[in-house]
Amino acid sequence: MPSEPIGIKVTILGSGTCVPSLKRSSCSVLMQIGRSRLLFDSGPGTMRRLLEAETSIFDISHIFYSHFHPDHSSEFVPFIFATKYPDGSRRKTPLTVGGGRGFLDFYERLRSAYGSWIELAPDLLNMIEFDNKKSDHLQLDDFTVETAPAAHNEESIAYRITSADGSSAVYTGDTDYSETISDLAKKADVLICECALPDRLRVAGHLTPSLAGDLAARADVGKLVLTHFYPQCDKTDIEAECRKTFAGPLVLAEDLMEIEIG
Ligand SMILES: [Zn+2]
Ligand SMILES: [Zn+2]
Repeated sequence: MPSEPIGIKVTILGSGTCVPSLKRSSCSVLMQIGRSRLLFDSGPGTMRRLLEAETSIFDISHIFYSHFHPDHSSEFVPFIFATKYPDGSRRKTPLTVGGGRGFLDFYERLRSAYGSWIELAPDLLNMIEFDNKKSDHLQLDDFTVETAPAAHNEESIAYRITSADGSSAVYTGDTDYSETISDLAKKADVLICECALPDRLRVAGHLTPSLAGDLAARADVGKLVLTHFYPQCDKTDIEAECRKTFAGPLVLAEDLMEIEIG
């Protein structure tokens, strides 16, 4: 069992997108807070990256989805199915899974396809929904969850996690520029922010390095971690583009990178 940090230990499991890549797995971030292990999104390849990060699927206590695009959500099905092997008895504590409004319906539609293959005993699976129109929050034993709508899909939300010692990390999921998210991220220790494409290739519903930098500067965060890189980003000086708008500590995410907070 890994040691239990007092603050938040972030591990980037996947810094990529829907594009198959050996270097960048699809989106997923692990946060370790006390005994809790939180997964944010679970794109394809997440369970393999978890193994590389020496974390068992049975250690995961919470999964929070930013939205339902397959590169963020599709490993939910194999994750639950694997949890049932050999008989589910290795999961000792309940798994809480949450997303924006519509998440329960999303699960029901998956269940109509997969049936009992993706069901767990009722005492082992909690499903929760957060408001997708305005801020929402949830107080748990080891940490607090705050959410805000993201500018991407109808159900999209961003998450701010605060541990008992006051350490804070924000995960945007996919989003366009959003003052709601810069408010959510106000003075956070770390902002893990999507940065899909270089400035010259900007598309609606996503950020570029200079827009992500602008959002981070507005929020006055302690550190900006850019992630969710399409392949064009790896042929571009992302740091230089981000430096047009953000002067603070900056990290370009890579798979299995670890960031300690607190
Ligand atoms: Zn998306
Ligand atoms: Zn995405």
